[in-house]
Amino acid sequence: MPVIPNFDPAAVSASVLERLRATLSTQEGFVPLHVPTLAGAEWDYVKECLDTGWVSTAGKFVERFELELAAYCGVKRAVAVCNGTAALHACMLVSGVQPNDEVIIPSLTFVATANAVSYTNAVPHFADAEEKTFGIDPTKLSSHLDRVGEMREGRCFNRETGRRIAAIVPMHTFGHPSQIDELMLIANHFGLTFIEDAAESLGSTYKGKHCGSFGRINAVSFNGNKIITTGGGGALLTNDEVLADRAKHITTTAKLPHPYRYDHDMVGYNYRMPNLNAALGVAQLEQLTRFLEQKRSLAQRYKEVFETVSGLRFISEPEFSVSNYWFNTLLLDRGNENALDSILKATNDAGLMTRPAWTPMHQLPMFKDAPRMNLDTAESLAQRLINIPSSVGI
Ligand SMILES: *Cc1c(COP(=O)(O)O)cnc(C)c1O
Repeated sequence: MPVIPNFDPAAVSASVLERLRATLSTQEGFVPLHVPTLAGAEWDYVKECLDTGWVSTAGKFVERFELELAAYCGVKRAVAVCNGTAALHACMLVSGVQPNDEVIIPSLTFVATANAVSYTNAVPHFADAEEKTFGIDPTKLSSHLDRVGEMREGRCFNRETGRRIAAIVPMHTFGHPSQIDELMLIANHFGLTFIEDAAESLGSTYKGKHCGSFGRINAVSFNGNKIITTGGGGALLTNDEVLADRAKHITTTAKLPHPYRYDHDMVGYNYRMPNLNAALGVAQLEQLTRFLEQKRSLAQRYKEVFETVSGLRFISEPEFSVSNYWFNTLLLDRGNENALDSILKATNDAGLMTRPAWTPMHQLPMFKDAPRMNLDTAESLAQRLINIPSSVGI
């Protein structure tokens, strides 16, 4: 690893702190990484739920939220559920991932992606990240699958484990779209179901189309720290009506429609989004365009401010995409990993919240034996990434 002479961690963290302070000077007190902005009709819509008694999983806001979300993302159907992890789990279940299948996911992701695979009793198979998008590296994945993948009757098997590789779940890290075309080519070549973990990328577009509209079925999240929030919540997005119906069924306890009988035709899940949460979602969606504009302008300010710091750079959207800039990110140059802790410490001590990337999944105890390719870039990125305050109100 190249060591940059004269690179001084203390000096670089002082200069990062100074620039963050200047950019965030209008913020009072502690500045969190990301807080929700509840500045629209949230009170009115939630009050309507309380006044009418429609607080739970039946109620008009759930359907309204689904319709408006699907229209916004340019897909035929949205199915609202109680969180993004449940959405991912349901994506696996309805798209035919079977127990003991392998599912290719990035190692550099939030643990929900890997957990959802495990809930299905399938096995995560970790792919490396690329420096450009932080998403799955298509070139590396393709040569990895050429080596370990064996095609039998249109299905791909891992010759090292004997298991079928059923699906691939790219994740659009911090809102920056992955190399979707290249990854879809690989998925098609190896017969893998394409499922997007678009939890972080609502409002991001790739070549003009929304993230969450590319895979066969895809997941988004409305957790409190996401670009819009329903408190907790998530949704499946798809253009496939059959899959959407199946998703709705399986996430509503597989209850057969009937005015008074309670019949269920399989083991289902109680994953439906409550009306209270959907009321928040409808109000939040009305503000998403403004949120996106404000996040872009913050990203632009950060970009200018950090241009003059050597040894690191501010991450901008890949050229083929428009990012929602959910989390703004600084990336230390290779060789400067030793500045990570001093920057995190200096900024957090000063009340400006920053944090590193997640520990890569293959380094977590429960996934340490999972199949994987070489993961050098994911490991390196995890030692160099720093998320900086990104709330809409800044
Ligand atoms: C937020 C997130 C999810 C889903 O999280 P929930 O908290 O269950 O809504 C899934 N994947 C990624 C990458 C995320 O960031």
